[in-house]
Amino acid sequence: MIFTASQQFTTLLGLLTIVPAGHGAVCFTIENTVIYVDPYSATTDYGRYPKADIVFFTHDHADHYDPKALEHIVTSHTLFVGPECMEKHLELEKTLRNGDFFKWKGIEVLAVPAYNIINKRPDGNPFHPKGYGNGYIFTFGDFRVYVAGDTELIPEMKQMGPVDVAILPKNLPYTMSDDQFLEAVKWINAPVVYPVHYFELDREYLEKAAGDKVKLIYK
Ligand code: ZN
Ligand code: ZN
Repeated sequence: MIFTASQQFTTLLGLLTIVPAGHGAVCFTIENTVIYVDPYSATTDYGRYPKADIVFFTHDHADHYDPKALEHIVTSHTLFVGPECMEKHLELEKTLRNGDFFKWKGIEVLAVPAYNIINKRPDGNPFHPKGYGNGYIFTFGDFRVYVAGDTELIPEMKQMGPVDVAILPKNLPYTMSDDQFLEAVKWINAPVVYPVHYFELDREYLEKAAGDKVKLIYK
């Protein structure tokens, strides 16, 4: 059952299904439209997933841009959208830099920053330099979903506006620690949060620390 963790939400554009599709990936379906972010085949069998109308990429690290996953879900009609670093891999329908806006089939998409402040590579560069990749806020009519991408806790998370669902990464050293994740949950203040991108997770601790106001959903 691929859709065991799927949840449905009512939006002005129709019923939205959110499927955490392994690692940092997410699959949205709304009416008959299928949208992916960062499909990744190492954790998920995409042979069992629906074909993509559009695929968004947060950045081109191998766990986010995965040609093997794309083989299963891409058709001649599939569109690709991503930051500038994706231009060398795929022909993009639209390149989005941090702050850019894209509207497609009534769905509004805002590219937001995703980057490291504390965690750096041995050469001193951040794993994700500011401006290299994107997070995205998808607005389905009146319903806003924040897909954070590979990011640490960043001050921009305080200004995401009302978010209905947040999809937040949690693993060191690439994204957020438990404490950063919990702080992000507080700042973003979404009633539903999907932790993603983790290798291990202390559910009991996170749920207790996050409190009753937020529902955590796992793949
Ligand atoms: Zn990355
Ligand atoms: Zn990653």
